[in-house]
This record gives sequence, structure tokens and C-alpha cells, in this order.
Amino acid sequence: MERLQKVIAAAGIASRRKAETYIVEGRVEVNGEVVKELGFKVKKGDVILVDGKAIEKENKVYYVMNKPKRSMCTAQDEFHRQTVVSLIEGKERLFTVGRLDYDTSGVLLLTNDGEFANMIIHPRYHIAKTYNLTINGILDNAQIKQIQKGIVLDDGVKTLPAKIKMTEKDLKKNQMSFDLTIYEGRNRQIKRMMEALGFEVRRLHRTQLGFLRVDDLSQGQYRRLKPFEIKKLR
Ligand code: URA
Repeated sequence: MERLQKVIAAAGIASRRKAETYIVEGRVEVNGEVVKELGFKVKKGDVILVDGKAIEKENKVYYVMNKPKRSMCTAQDEFHRQTVVSLIEGKERLFTVGRLDYDTSGVLLLTNDGEFANMIIHPRYHIAKTYNLTINGILDNAQIKQIQKGIVLDDGVKTLPAKIKMTEKDLKKNQMSFDLTIYEGRNRQIKRMMEALGFEVRRLHRTQLGFLRVDDLSQGQYRRLKPFEIKKLR
């Protein structure tokens, strides 16, 4: 037995919240009867209609993309900017697992499996995320140590210890590039870490999420995850 809104959401028709609205609005029928009760439980074999149409269980799909710069991780954008979801062909109602900023490129997961997505973005999961970035200045040793130990952000939260590896120093341009690995996913975390040290991020690319990389994909390209990859991430 499962809650009606959960079953509707699992069919990919709407989010769980939206499914609740449909139920309250009287748009859902179970075995020929309108059900307006949110706690209602359904069992296998029950016929569920939303707006008169039978729902079917949606297949779960999992993609990894090399997100292009200048694309949004939201389902829609009020300024009609390109969304990453629109780049994927298929009928499933996809969403991104976490978000990358509009100007950030690199490894991004997309799925229609809400439980999988929630598990990966859960703060206790601590999946490693490596970014290669360029900043408008040169970090000194004390600042590198601060990054390694944890930095207090603008909201007073201290980041977990992070790993840093230099890749390029350009004294003429007064900029440097490096790999930064973090184990949590706070909003705009990399940019805010750099802001806390007085720097601005000029370029940001996620090179790795857990064991996943996208070196073989150009920006905007994607592929299905292999079953062993999905298993390994769980
Ligand atoms: N940190 C950021 O600041 N931006 C991203 O897109 C990802 C991590």
C-alpha cells in the first residue's frame, strides 16, 4: 500500500506537492471514485486516473551530461534562457541532481528518480565534487591552509575541509587555476569560498562528481549512466 500522491509522483506526472493539489482539487479518481483525501492509500492493481487519464509507472532514467556554460538547471527560466533538461531527448520529466550555476560547466546528473537525487544531494552523503577554477589573483599559503581546513562563509557556516591542487599560475595576468575538491554542496559554495578570501571566480568547471567524469563528452553532450554506475553511486 502506498500513498496516492507518491504513486502519482512516481508516474512522472507531477511533483508530490503538485499531486497533492490535484487530489484536493478533485482531479484524481481511484477505481472510478474521486478521492480528495491526502492520506489515501492505493494498492497494486488499483486504477488511478488524473484528469480522466490513466497513469502508468514511469521508467527511471539516469543521465550524465557535460553541462554547457550559459544553461540553466531549473525546469524553466523566466528569461527564456536554455535549460539543460531541454538538451535531452525523451519523454521523461527530468530534473537535475543538485545545481550548477548558469556560467558553470561540467559533470551534471539528470534523472526522474527523486529518491536517487535526494540521496546524492543529502548533506550526509558527502560525495566528492572536484572543480577546476580560475580566480582573479594568487592564493598565498595561509589562504590555501584556510581552504584545506574550512572557511567561514558569508552566512557564518564553516565549510568542511577541502582538497586543493594547483594547475596553473599566471603572474602576468594575476590569476591562477586549481582543482578544488569539496565534500558538501552548499549554494554557490565555490564562489562563496573564494569571495570569503577576497577573490572572484573567472571560470568554473566541475571535473568530477564521485567517480564520474565527462572528459569524453563535449559541452552539451550527455549519455545514459550504465547500471553498474548507478549501483556504485547508491
Ligand atoms: N559552486 C559554485 O559557486 N557554483 C557552481 O556552479 C557550483 C559550485
